[in-house]
Amino acid sequence: MPISKKDRIQREHKKADKAGTRAPVKANGLPVKAPKPTSICQNCRREMVNTNKVQLEAHALTHDQKMWPKEKCWPEVYPSDGAAN
Ligand SMILES: [Zn+2]
Repeated sequence: MPISKKDRIQREHKKADKAGTRAPVKANGLPVKAPKPTSICQNCRREMVNTNKVQLEAHALTHDQKMWPKEKCWPEVYPSDGAAN
């Protein structure tokens, strides 16, 4: 009986474990990507990658600028209480 894909992946994992080269993978064998840091918009609760400030600012512009400037949408990213100093 030929080995299944699962068995083959498990064998590769064991081999990589011994060699110390095993990359983290999910149960389905796909590599686990490092999670991107995200922030949740305080207005609409949309979760966005917070390293992309252009995107965050563009998102903030979709809200009323008087009520929801980017500092209110993303307080962790744009602290407005002077903590930046
Ligand atoms: Zn929003």
